[in-house]
Amino acid sequence: MKYSHRYPAYPTQEVAAELEYHIDIHRQAYNYTLYEYENVDADDIGSAYKHHYRLPGWKHEFPVFSTVNSKALQRTVTRFYDNLSNLKDQKNNGNTVGKLNWKSPREFQSMTYSQSGFELKNTSGRHATLCLSKIGDFKIRYHRDIPDTADIKEVTIKKETTGEWFVSFGLETDEADLPEKSDVDSLDVSNSVGVDLGIHNYIHTSDGKTVEWLNLEDEYERLRREQRKLSRKEKGSNNYENQRRNVATVKRHIKRTVLDYQHKLTTWLVREYDAVFVEDLDVKEMLEQSHNARNKQDAAWRQFITLLEYKADLYGCHVVQVEPRGTTKDCASCGVETAKPIWVREHSCPSCGFECDRDANAAMNVLQRGFSELGLGWPESTPVETALPTDTAGFQRVSAKRVIETGSLGA
Ligand SMILES: [Zn+2]
Repeated sequence: MKYSHRYPAYPTQEVAAELEYHIDIHRQAYNYTLYEYENVDADDIGSAYKHHYRLPGWKHEFPVFSTVNSKALQRTVTRFYDNLSNLKDQKNNGNTVGKLNWKSPREFQSMTYSQSGFELKNTSGRHATLCLSKIGDFKIRYHRDIPDTADIKEVTIKKETTGEWFVSFGLETDEADLPEKSDVDSLDVSNSVGVDLGIHNYIHTSDGKTVEWLNLEDEYERLRREQRKLSRKEKGSNNYENQRRNVATVKRHIKRTVLDYQHKLTTWLVREYDAVFVEDLDVKEMLEQSHNARNKQDAAWRQFITLLEYKADLYGCHVVQVEPRGTTKDCASCGVETAKPIWVREHSCPSCGFECDRDANAAMNVLQRGFSELGLGWPESTPVETALPTDTAGFQRVSAKRVIETGSLGA
């Protein structure tokens, strides 16, 4: 299984200058690959693998290519062919595409060390050290451990438009080393959870937890302020460029805060439960009448589910997306459908008399559908009786702050 972890990096000025110098040589290598691909007729052109054989010749002709790590140089040639094949895929999918262009320094801000030439050290604290051959050492903020079972296949070093540096580790864990998912037959209401993705920025679990979403009002206000400032600057001026950077910084900060939060939430879920069920967003989107207004939140939930799914394999948890139709209307206890407008926060079943919070009822339905997706019947003792607090007072509210500080929602 392949996945990646990304970390902020803090090279000294000296090392940063060296990184920039190397990236620019890689940019020239990329452009030269394009040049040869388009203009040179030779047997060793046409695939990354073949093109790698030309590199000794390059180094002979242009000694500057010898100053960078040679595996990384191969990787840059491969990057060109990867882009080429992405372009072909898009074309095959019926998209209008141009051709690959020469990269200007602004468009080429990263390089990748592949297989060798890098070493990650001092990983026990909050900061680790990354050593790159031919460049030097620098610190990264090591806020997430790389799993023991993971092999680091490659490292990409990137300078963002904000001027900040990041490294991204391409990781691979053998299928055989992944924890086994528990037997489907062993799943029940005590080790499985249905999650309702709320419209009003929270998640709700079938075992009675309401988890607040981050309050980002201050950040969004700051973004609006910076954007207003930008609109008053003269396009193309130095001030405009500086302000554009400020806007980008705030946007990135918001994006990262959300991602970090979602990492904590999803890790908690897959560690805590053997099975996690969520609504299928693709279907849900089709059902929503006014989904435009919700785009931002939908994008966030999409990312949440993507994280959940990849962690399912890493932590040995079943993650299943279920049919979202009617999760709010159907009674979790007897299945009878009752229409309720959005402002009605209580579920009160006219048929069986079951009463609970509207979202708890929805989360319970998600749980039930998850079981049936996995081919399991509904357990004898209904979770409605055993697992669900029947009044809202019984809910455990978990604040975003607590998730951030402890990485947990547990009691
Ligand atoms: Zn009912």
